[in-house]
Amino acid sequence: MEYQNRLPEEGINTPNRHPLAEFIRLTIAAVVALILFGLLLNFAGGHLAGLIPYRAEVWLTDRIDTALTEAGESSPFSEDENDSPLHDYLNQLGAKVEQALEMKSPMAIHLHYSDEDVVNAFATLGGHVYLYKGLLKQLPHENALVMLLAHEYSHVQLRHPVRGVGGGIAVALGAALLPGGAGVKGRLYGLAGSLSNLNFSRDMESQSDENGLKAVNKIYGHTDGADDLFVLFMAQRDESDVGALDGFFSTHPLDKQRIDDLLRIAHDNGWNVEGKTTDLPTEFMNWLNSPGN
Ligand SMILES: [Zn+2]
Repeated sequence: MEYQNRLPEEGINTPNRHPLAEFIRLTIAAVVALILFGLLLNFAGGHLAGLIPYRAEVWLTDRIDTALTEAGESSPFSEDENDSPLHDYLNQLGAKVEQALEMKSPMAIHLHYSDEDVVNAFATLGGHVYLYKGLLKQLPHENALVMLLAHEYSHVQLRHPVRGVGGGIAVALGAALLPGGAGVKGRLYGLAGSLSNLNFSRDMESQSDENGLKAVNKIYGHTDGADDLFVLFMAQRDESDVGALDGFFSTHPLDKQRIDDLLRIAHDNGWNVEGKTTDLPTEFMNWLNSPGN
């Protein structure tokens, strides 16, 4: 046998693929890894935050409130000092909802009313729930209002706001560690600004829908009218959709899905889906227009 000192073959260190294809492949892999990392941080942060006792959450929001007020900023946690008929009425309904949801007594909810013409309502840290005139004025009856209250109260009961913020903080901290990140401070300021605009997951929304319906059934003995809240949202979205896609997107599967889900939940639990809805107080519209009286 004869030994030779052969040169290695050409190209063994470079793969057969086009360098651009290789670049794209690696970029996609990096993006996917980043997304997975973000989802993991969001999940872990949310889970950890959910372990914070409710009292601590309330204590923290009180501190944020004081700090914002002292800095001359508007705080989402400041109490509206108001014992108007509207607040009395809303708080009465709220008390019924708390009972129906079997909320623990220290979980006091702070209801806020804003006479801005915005079709919105939300729950944020420390049990603060906001209702806007733009939404309330469109409610067809009390049953839809109770569904709305029970949905928001349920977010508080299930600790969704603190879990949402915890997930957001974890992602912000993770992102700040990346090169080119805006830094921890910048990210956290951004997060503080979004306290009134927390995005809950679809799962969280479904849970609150289900609990809300349960409360409506407990209070009225049937679930009729609860879905009118989502019929209203559906109509609202349709109204704001203008353009060529209108015909195609004229029904929004998400709202439609929620309405279907409510009906299924009622059937599964053997709840009565038909009944008489309760009128809102005759003065309700006047109260909304002049909430101070
Ligand atoms: Zn919600």
